[in-house]
Amino acid sequence: MRNGGVARLKGLALEMHLSALLSLVVSVFLLSCAPVFAQTPVTPPSPTVPGAKLPGASDSFVLARAVHLVEDQGPDGAGLVVDLTDEVKTRVEALANPARLVIDLEGAAFSAGVTTSSSRGLGPVSAWRAGLFMLGQSRIVLELARPALIERVDFVRQGGTVRLVAQIKAVPQARFDEQAKADQARRLATRAQLTGPLGTRQAGAKPLLVIDPGHGGIDPGASGGKGEIEKELVLAVGKALRKAIEADGRIEVQMTREDDRFIPLAERVAFARSKGAALFVSLHADSLAGEADVRGASVYTLGDRASDAEAARAAEKENRADQVAGLDISDEAREGVDDILFDLARRETRLFSQIVARNTANAIQKGAKLHKTPLRSAGFKVLRAPDMPSILIELGYLSNAEDVAVLASESSRIRLAQGLGEALVRFLTSGRDAISTKIPD
Ligand SMILES: [Zn+2]
Repeated sequence: MRNGGVARLKGLALEMHLSALLSLVVSVFLLSCAPVFAQTPVTPPSPTVPGAKLPGASDSFVLARAVHLVEDQGPDGAGLVVDLTDEVKTRVEALANPARLVIDLEGAAFSAGVTTSSSRGLGPVSAWRAGLFMLGQSRIVLELARPALIERVDFVRQGGTVRLVAQIKAVPQARFDEQAKADQARRLATRAQLTGPLGTRQAGAKPLLVIDPGHGGIDPGASGGKGEIEKELVLAVGKALRKAIEADGRIEVQMTREDDRFIPLAERVAFARSKGAALFVSLHADSLAGEADVRGASVYTLGDRASDAEAARAAEKENRADQVAGLDISDEAREGVDDILFDLARRETRLFSQIVARNTANAIQKGAKLHKTPLRSAGFKVLRAPDMPSILIELGYLSNAEDVAVLASESSRIRLAQGLGEALVRFLTSGRDAISTKIPD
């Protein structure tokens, strides 16, 4: 246990080592100063090597096979039950605005056929969800109808199953606020840095493009009528795009994620900046309830104010990703980081981004349909790097059958990726000086 935390039940900030499991129930320790690993700087995704083990993964990867919410203490409480195959370390945290509790299971993944009795709430819990948060870490998010904390977490071994039982109990608002504030202070201390110097590339290195497939893990993104999921489609397009660009040979490509993991928005940008990326391209797909006719791709750049209501809605939706995954989006607002980044997003970077966006939109036309207003701007969090040209492509609408057909078919993804790749390579190989002379002042 780090930092010698006092072994005292205080509801939150718990860390358990199942290895300490002696009989049926292990002790619960308070860890008052533990770093929250959700906020540690992003680990660059390693290239996937067939047969190689991924970091954090092993043959003994712990599986969560069932998650249930059970009745406990009537309206004032609830119990969370997770059936695991083996030992895990857990951490618990309270988040305000909106009030949530998150439980992280380190080194655990939810098995493919994981049983979840229901996502409906019980007692103080209004709803909950569970999924992979990042590689080697799964997360359960409990949304709260009223202030509540996790009073204790116990582990019980039953045959081949280790059962985690978390006791959730309603508490006065002041007590919840106090815990959420303490948890936030810890997160802020370890937050991904966006304002440090841009990473440098080795002399003679190829320009680097970072492809950012949106969402992942616990955050599925938008969904289509036949079960199409944004996080899966944009990852497939991202991989096709990488392949198309690598085939050209003049540009190096890295991806913020190559599998189904969650990565906070700020860490996606921080990863690309730390590598000294020449361009950051975030891939998404949209969905509009009750508007099945609306279709086509849009290319977004950063804007202080949204270019139109539709752009504002898209940015609001995409910026919600961190909240869906149980991060506290009020961290940035309280620190004024949003304002700082907007100020720093220099005019030159924005102009480059706008040129890329225009070229990209033209290229998309070769493989897919464009939205009637294809070039738009809004306050997307992943586009706020001040010194790295960045665009976000909404590849189409999952609420539109024709757009889904394009994104779900491998052959049309390849066609789309080739057109996109050509435009991006052209931008990255033409050099900033050559481009800047073409920008009207
Ligand atoms: Zn998205």
